[in-house]
Amino acid sequence: MSNPSQHTGMIYLVGAGPGDPGLITLKGVECLQRAQVVIYDYLANEQLLAHAPADAELIYAGKIGGRHNQDQEEINRLLVEKGREGKIVVRLKGGDPFVFGRGGEECEALSAAGVPFQVVPGVTAAVGAAAYSGIPLTHRDFTASVAFVTGHEGKDKSESAIDWDRLSLGNGTVVFYMGITTLRSNMERLLRHGRSPETPVALVRWGTAPTQQVLIGTLGDIADRAEAIGFKPPAVTIVGEVVALRDRLRWFDNRPLFGRKILVTRAADQAGEFAAMLTDRGATVMECPTIKLVDPESWEPLDSAIRSMSDYDWLVLTSVNGARRFFQRLALLGLDARAVGTCRVCAVGPKTAEAIRACGILPDMVPSDYKAEGVVAEFAKLAMNGTRVLFPRADKAREVIPCELKRMGAQVDSPVAYRNVMPDRLPPEALFSLEKRTVDCITFTSSSTVHNLADMLGSDLLVNMLKGVSVASIGAITSKACRSLGLKVDIEPPNSTLAHLVEEIERHYRSIR
Ligand code: SAH
Repeated sequence: MSNPSQHTGMIYLVGAGPGDPGLITLKGVECLQRAQVVIYDYLANEQLLAHAPADAELIYAGKIGGRHNQDQEEINRLLVEKGREGKIVVRLKGGDPFVFGRGGEECEALSAAGVPFQVVPGVTAAVGAAAYSGIPLTHRDFTASVAFVTGHEGKDKSESAIDWDRLSLGNGTVVFYMGITTLRSNMERLLRHGRSPETPVALVRWGTAPTQQVLIGTLGDIADRAEAIGFKPPAVTIVGEVVALRDRLRWFDNRPLFGRKILVTRAADQAGEFAAMLTDRGATVMECPTIKLVDPESWEPLDSAIRSMSDYDWLVLTSVNGARRFFQRLALLGLDARAVGTCRVCAVGPKTAEAIRACGILPDMVPSDYKAEGVVAEFAKLAMNGTRVLFPRADKAREVIPCELKRMGAQVDSPVAYRNVMPDRLPPEALFSLEKRTVDCITFTSSSTVHNLADMLGSDLLVNMLKGVSVASIGAITSKACRSLGLKVDIEPPNSTLAHLVEEIERHYRSIR
């Protein structure tokens, strides 16, 4: 038998933060990355589990709405047991482990059992909810102190451990945790002990999350207001003059797309930038790729075109993806941007132009109308007769460019640079959200995103599932595909770029707010 001390594990009590998965500490993430076991709570955002290694053991140890002592003892036992097995364990707790998190009790159990532990603090709910609702907990003009108070004292305590007198006098901000079911009695106690009924109060539910809900009132009326709308936990109650600052300092839940769930149907490797633009404006983005980009069946046509680049007068690229793949292929053949030589380059729009510039070439032509027709219109201004054009493209690309350029007398080669194929399946979470009718908007950024979704669901089911969902299409061609399948297009920008699409979605929701 080896020395047991070599097998002693380490338990990290890690604060997960209040909800927004970006609010965990760097140290917390590092612990998760090394974890063999993660024991997590109901309040810890499950997205954080993605930081743990794929083979880590994940144990859910939370109960909705309060935990019993018995469960807590079980958790303590589990921590000791896993520690003794020599495991690296992350005990992931909502907010901060030492603020109403029973982290102290867990550490006591570990200490008594001689199992080593470390504590990584987190953003506690009061701090997170205050920041994301625009309520500074202290402010020179209003208050110099803040108290975090349990709104739900242990049932076994017959006398209050809270000094209501001190809490009620003066102008200190008071934040109650676990105080929604007991809201009325807590507010009454503050009033009875001397706080003014006019004192502003905010209830912040699911603070920092896309589902954050804030209810504003006063000490005198907040309980009635909460009851009237059936306000539910988990929420913190912030009492104090600082609450009034929200009028001016609100920044999170008044963003144009806040609370909107938007489905993105682009290919997974193309969705990131678009998703980030929507998320920045407050939307909850759900990725539902309906396209997968794969290699052509044969590289031969593209390779031989690349090898004889000097024969071409124009290179036309009509997508970021096409541009990237063209230059990747060039590199694989042992060539670089110089191979393009004196051949002039056309980019369909600013994004494609950017991708081409990243490969060291300044595009010679970017039409003002960012689609195939715009490219054709630009070429129509030139003498095209006898020119040779290379147009590397997707297998399902429209024929507009080759057809029209040929009509102008050009000789066009259009080898396939990538194929758009249907993914094997749609993500279950996306289907679930559609079935539950919790999706506000679906975005289509090319006609194949629409056609593929219709093929995967069947067009009847598609129309049915998208009832009540706003359809946002990047431009006329995609909209036509939507309509041909019986979908009504609600949002279409004047220019076919992602930035314009995002702007148009924003305008749409502003107009119906
Ligand atoms: N250790 C946690 C608190 C756990 S007690 C922390 O430091 O935040 C549970 C209470 O925390 C809930 O009843 C609620 O009052 C509060 N809470 C936790 N997450 C919250 C959130 N995202 N928004 C508002 N209140 C939250």
